[in-house]
Amino acid sequence: GARADEDLLDGLNPQQREAVTYRGQALLIVAGAGSGKTSVLTRRIASLLRNREAWPSQILAITFTNKAAGEMRERVEHLVGDSARGMWISTFHSACVRILRREAEQFGFTKSFTIYDSGDSRALIKRLVKEHEADAFGLTPAATQGKISKLKNELADAESYARTANMSDPAERVFVELFAAYQRELQRANAFDFDDLIAQTVFLFRAFPQVADVYRRRFRHVLVDEYQDTNHAQYALIHELTRPPGSDAAPLAGSGGMMIFEAEPAAEDGASLTVVGDSDQSIYAFRGADIRNISEFEKDYPGAKVVLLEQNYRSTQNILSAANAVISHNFDRKDKRLWTDVGEGEKIIGFTGYSQHDEAQFVADEIEALRRAGVDYSQMAVFYRTNSQSRALEEIFIRSALPYKIMGGTKFYERAEIKDALAYLVAVANPADEMAMRRIINRPRRGIGDVTIETISRYAVDQQITFRDALANSSALGVGPKIQAAIAHLDAVLAEATEIMLPASGELAPPTAVADGLQLLLNKSGYYDALRASKDAQDEARIENLDEMVAVAREFARNNPEGTLLDFLTEVALVSDADDLEDASGSVSLMTLHTAKGLEYDAVFVTGVEEDLIPHRISAGEPGGPQEERRLFYVGITRARQRLYLSLAMTRAQFGEVTVAMPSRFLQEIPLELLHWRQSPGDVNSRGGTQSRALNARRGGFGGSGSGSGKRYGDDLVPLARREPTGNLERFANKIPSKVRDNGDLELAPGDRIRHDDFGEGRVDAVTGEGAKRVAHVRFDVAGPKKLLIKIAPISKL
Ligand code: ATP
Ligand code: MG
Repeated sequence: GARADEDLLDGLNPQQREAVTYRGQALLIVAGAGSGKTSVLTRRIASLLRNREAWPSQILAITFTNKAAGEMRERVEHLVGDSARGMWISTFHSACVRILRREAEQFGFTKSFTIYDSGDSRALIKRLVKEHEADAFGLTPAATQGKISKLKNELADAESYARTANMSDPAERVFVELFAAYQRELQRANAFDFDDLIAQTVFLFRAFPQVADVYRRRFRHVLVDEYQDTNHAQYALIHELTRPPGSDAAPLAGSGGMMIFEAEPAAEDGASLTVVGDSDQSIYAFRGADIRNISEFEKDYPGAKVVLLEQNYRSTQNILSAANAVISHNFDRKDKRLWTDVGEGEKIIGFTGYSQHDEAQFVADEIEALRRAGVDYSQMAVFYRTNSQSRALEEIFIRSALPYKIMGGTKFYERAEIKDALAYLVAVANPADEMAMRRIINRPRRGIGDVTIETISRYAVDQQITFRDALANSSALGVGPKIQAAIAHLDAVLAEATEIMLPASGELAPPTAVADGLQLLLNKSGYYDALRASKDAQDEARIENLDEMVAVAREFARNNPEGTLLDFLTEVALVSDADDLEDASGSVSLMTLHTAKGLEYDAVFVTGVEEDLIPHRISAGEPGGPQEERRLFYVGITRARQRLYLSLAMTRAQFGEVTVAMPSRFLQEIPLELLHWRQSPGDVNSRGGTQSRALNARRGGFGGSGSGSGKRYGDDLVPLARREPTGNLERFANKIPSKVRDNGDLELAPGDRIRHDDFGEGRVDAVTGEGAKRVAHVRFDVAGPKKLLIKIAPISKL
């Protein structure tokens, strides 16, 4: 008979069909890039719904970014109509937040918990490191944070870690103390950090099987995209969710006999689980991702069906052959050969610039040429290994008036003024969050210093109330009348905003409540006024950013008429690298190679294909590092549909120093006949005379014979003319140093007064580093302390 999902199978190859229609407990789809893994997952969901095998609410699909989740939801809705509402299609983090908001009260949190991003958790760890004097044991905040994060990804807590660590080592003892203190502080603040969102959900399920069973009964179909990049905690979460309900109702260890569950024979099956992945695209080992989650899937889920997809529908044969050739240099992998019937296509184009600006100019020119040939800007993307590489590209793109959009690089939410605005909102949403309170209590300046803050904190501890509640008792604090008035004012402003955003009596706030409340906070707290009164040019940009923040809140209200303050804070906290505030239509997309995962474009430029960038310098010492870098390069080149460009620069200015770059080893892994050099490294040698011998020795194939004068190009340091920000380029203007200068050997000593083009006048506190890396530590009269690279900062001595 005809299937209700017949049209969903149109155009699929037999393996893809099987992946959509197989009905069993566990299904693993392994396949190379562009073979339709994500498409198949989407159709599989549509097919389950269309055949009425599942209600939308029984489906949980996990994607790698919120953006990917949005796209998948749209496609499913397109395939099955409106009935798709109620499905959970989200990232691991978003799904866990939803679960935790419902269940947090089970284990000592409230549903209004704050989500600490890595900056927040770094700030907290910094405070604790100081309090424990842990620096003396080599426990820097960064190292401590990294280690805690890694342990949480492995589902270890301070206690379990202490059992395995060598506790006779004093550094280990201090670390365990720090870890435990950090968790205590999070709990006290009613907050979870990013890693906690997943780990605590797993702990919750393990500690409260009856809670886990609610979700096991609800989600009958669990589907996970990009499974190769799951870490242990995520793996465990999926495992918990797909067990048969009732299967682990065992007596609880450590429950003090309060909760004893009888083990019952499992009457129901676990949810069906579908995972798709490509171990050649695993690029998050540094965040604990474990390829073994894929390679051992069949062991973990006995009887699992495995489907292989080998036809690629994305790229031309030339692009695929290059990808196959590169990835085949990784050992310890299952060889799979992708093929396509799209045809050979154009050759891959190589280009070597003298400098990164020269390289960027080539990219810009080529983009314009493609545009004239009919390729839409939105169908072109430029990738790089590290965020800092975007600067040269942006400078050239702005000069060429080329519309572009940085994906995940705007760091909007990391700006100080935006963090302040969010802290005001958090202070309203989660009064227990003392860190947010400490952040806003003297922003704008109200004359409340560290001494007063400690007074309030002590009062709160003594009275066993929150920091926020202590403000309401300003008269009991024993502070001077001016400070008391300032505290009372802040308290009143927070109370007024609370009334707007969180009306009492359970009444639903109007959709615009968050935006209105935010505006009120910024106005009545004096925040806007302080910026307006400032003479610092940067403060004008800050006002614009805050206006943008209010606009984001209004936009949120339009998209989520029933969205609450908590929903808004959740969304903001979970914006990930690849997610974006605005839409990129009509612009070229710029992003890191990591962010490019899962995406596709007609034309792709992979830039900076140099040793030390890709493979990155830091990967050299890591076990498996170079192999992971090769996978990253593979991810980059397999994003291209029609055209692929690989470019590099012979000289690169980084940290104010100009270094000579070497072509990446990965270039040599691409068969010569697939690559057409517009300008090879050899061409640059013979014309420019950079250090040629080393380059030619690396690879005869590059050709050219330079004279090797050793001249270093300095064009990256040429001052840029000050630009009048125009139109949509304005927002990027404050990201780019307005002036880059070559100061040569400007002599500075502590005590010198200097003037900076943007920051105004200041006093040099110290000078560190040597040669081109000399750094001045300057305390600016208005802008505060800054570190400047003396060689290129726009400064002069007074
Ligand atoms: P990646 O590994 O990069 O995540 P993927 O395996 O998830 O890739 P998709 O993004 O699902 O691949 O598909 C790649 C492209 O191929 C998409 O443009 C998709 O629409 C197209 N495609 C997939 N299957 C078919 C098919 N059977 N016929 C035509 N086009 C297809
Ligand atoms: Mg995909």
